[in-house]
Amino acid sequence: MPDDMSRPLIRGRCEGRSSTHLEAAMSEPGAPVIGILGTGDFSRSLARRLVTSGYQVVVGSRVPKRSQGLFPEEAEVTSQMEAASQADLVFVAVFPEHHSTLVELKPALAGKTLVDVSNGLRINQEGPSNAEQLADLFPESSVVKGFNTISAWMLQVGPRDGSRQVFLCSDSQQAKSLVMQVCRRMGFIPVDMGLLSSSLEIENLPLYLFPSWHLPVLCTVFLFFFFYLYNFTRDVLQPYITAGKSAFYKMPIEIVNVTLPSVALVMLALVYLPGLFAAFLQLWWGTKYNRFPNWLDRWLTRRKQFGLCSFLCAVLHAIYSLCLPMRKSARFKLLDAAVKQVKDGLENSWVDTEVWRMELYLSVGIMALGLLSLLAVTSLPSVAGTVNWREFSFIQSTLGYCALSMATLHAVFYGWNRAFVPDHYRFYLPPTFLLVLILPLTVLLGRLALFVPCVAWQLRRIRRGWEKSKHIRFALPDDEYHNGLEDVSNV
Ligand code: NAP
Repeated sequence: MPDDMSRPLIRGRCEGRSSTHLEAAMSEPGAPVIGILGTGDFSRSLARRLVTSGYQVVVGSRVPKRSQGLFPEEAEVTSQMEAASQADLVFVAVFPEHHSTLVELKPALAGKTLVDVSNGLRINQEGPSNAEQLADLFPESSVVKGFNTISAWMLQVGPRDGSRQVFLCSDSQQAKSLVMQVCRRMGFIPVDMGLLSSSLEIENLPLYLFPSWHLPVLCTVFLFFFFYLYNFTRDVLQPYITAGKSAFYKMPIEIVNVTLPSVALVMLALVYLPGLFAAFLQLWWGTKYNRFPNWLDRWLTRRKQFGLCSFLCAVLHAIYSLCLPMRKSARFKLLDAAVKQVKDGLENSWVDTEVWRMELYLSVGIMALGLLSLLAVTSLPSVAGTVNWREFSFIQSTLGYCALSMATLHAVFYGWNRAFVPDHYRFYLPPTFLLVLILPLTVLLGRLALFVPCVAWQLRRIRRGWEKSKHIRFALPDDEYHNGLEDVSNV
């Protein structure tokens, strides 16, 4: 891999590459002459893509001779001044720290369009952006921000791989249109982001590291450690301390397999809890026009990520469960049980209640996993784009609550009567399933409360703009008035 990275992105004349390798080499008459300042990785890939798209390309370098061989034959490599003078549109492919070294090109670049492709080293919240600083340096040129989200590699292989969107912004509509045309001709899809003030946002785009995943991932990790330690204390530490029984072999699989469904269920409940908070707050305020507190706002926008984390834990739980019988410890336990049965002279070990409990436990578990898979698939933007809002909300809300109910029943069948057996309160700690059930049951009861007709009706009125403090006469259309079920479908 490091070797790949150090290799030049494109091979040039000096390596015997002929122009016939380029997909289309002839520049088209009437097309603007495109200049590129800088001869680094980005510049070389961009030059190649522009040449194949039929543009005449002139590259400006501080030392033209040094980099001439790295560019396709059709691109002219010359001095920075020469390139700036010849070109109609100039890509500035140098690092922003070196923008100031280009000021002597000011007269040659006056009245022309400059495309700033630069990225920062870290997220810039304050501004000004690189593009705004470039615009200050070249007030007589029109600066367009763009192409910074496209890597040199993507430019080289073309828009077949990776994202095809190129975010552009500029204060000059004319300059932006020109760059959009070039962008389209190169096979990319320009996305107009408005004025140059958006450049800060565009520059930050490639620097974000899963911003919407921080909270859900932190929650998952925290819950995992919490439940793992809890189960470890109850199932491994307690028998070791009280009876000297070593059960440390349970740590890699059994404890993990009890921890994963606990995390999955609590995370799934956390998907629906903020919707309930929002609904109850609106009922309490008697209006929907009050802003939610920031923490609730953030939580509401992260529900998809919470759901996907829950799905991951549920899938892992299913895989772990399927692998349980493969373990040596499981085989020894089975053998011991059979021997014990023979010794005790028991003919039939069939216990009807236990059989039923297991059948139901597995059945609702499979159902819950199936529904969770459906929710996960529908959360993909490409799938979500094919359903309308009502269908989406039916799947995510109604089927989501079905998944939560099934998963809750799965935990109930797992725990069964253990909550009432004192032996299961090891170190006075209640069985794990009891802790896990608190949140999902609260959410399900909260949801049921919203189904009460008068509550559902009030919430629907509020969501249609009714306000308690303003005594406006307000009536809902008849069909909606009676349909409380849909009224709360978005919580
Ligand atoms: P690079 O390989 O280091 O090339 C930078 C070029 O800038 C040099 O080859 C040099 O060419 C030129 N330059 C002009 N004045 C300079 C000066 N005073 N000091 C040093 N160099 C000077 O960098 P790059 O990867 O091509 O990136 C160029 C710009 O594109 C950066 O702003 C970067 O953020 C942006 N970008 C890069 C990528 C990518 O995948 N590489 C992706 C998106 C955006 P001469 O010596 O021939 O003048």
